[in-house]
Amino acid sequence: MRGKLVVGNWKMNGGLAANKTLLAEIKSGWAAQRGRNIAVCAPYPYLAQVSAALDATPIAWGAQDVSEHDSGAFTGEVSARMLAEFGCRYAIVGHSERRQHYGDTDAVVAAKAVATLAVGLTPIACVGETLAERDAGATMAVVSRQLEAVLGAVGENAVKIVVAYEPVWAIGTGRTASPEEAQAVHARVRARLEHSGATDVPVLYGGSVKPDNAKALFAMADIDGGLIGGASLKAAEFLAIAGA
Ligand code: PEP
Repeated sequence: MRGKLVVGNWKMNGGLAANKTLLAEIKSGWAAQRGRNIAVCAPYPYLAQVSAALDATPIAWGAQDVSEHDSGAFTGEVSARMLAEFGCRYAIVGHSERRQHYGDTDAVVAAKAVATLAVGLTPIACVGETLAERDAGATMAVVSRQLEAVLGAVGENAVKIVVAYEPVWAIGTGRTASPEEAQAVHARVRARLEHSGATDVPVLYGGSVKPDNAKALFAMADIDGGLIGGASLKAAEFLAIAGA
């Protein structure tokens, strides 16, 4: 059965003191929502803090990116093997901010997904169109191209990934796709995954998800939860979204 999942993407935010408070609030708030699958993806330096704080809880954690390489002369990079050594569960790959600012191509994103799976972690593979692409009627073509790159590379391991549809124009902008707009893309993503036998892969929606729009989005047939940016920095909002 397809699982529901809500993942917080802290982006490049946080600090030791603020994280401590946020994690404590998430932990205590989660107790009231047992059964919800949630995870937080923090900046690399704070992963040890997150790991320690969430130890012995069912709340998972992950990284916001990962190298496509295992080790070697790749200054500044962090490999999936390193993350796996201390209990990491997820790595986001292909977030639009990586694609846009750091040149992550479809091929690089696919290689990152493969590297993540190779050590037993779950890649959260992000796909999504820009506003110009949407206006040009290219949403499905762009999403399909990005998805095909990942599926072609991971092969039968497609059953082990998570996909996040994040329209770029909705990320951090306060604009969100309507539930129907998001569902239309999710249905196509779902159909493609099912074609690969990956029937149980969660397909998350991301892009300005807030407590007041989460319920309608998550009620859609093919939306299995969310990848949450800004609202994941406030425990009350993040938990309200998870509760939706
Ligand atoms: C994200 O960073 O993946 C994201 C969806 O951000 P926001 O929720 O702030 O739009």
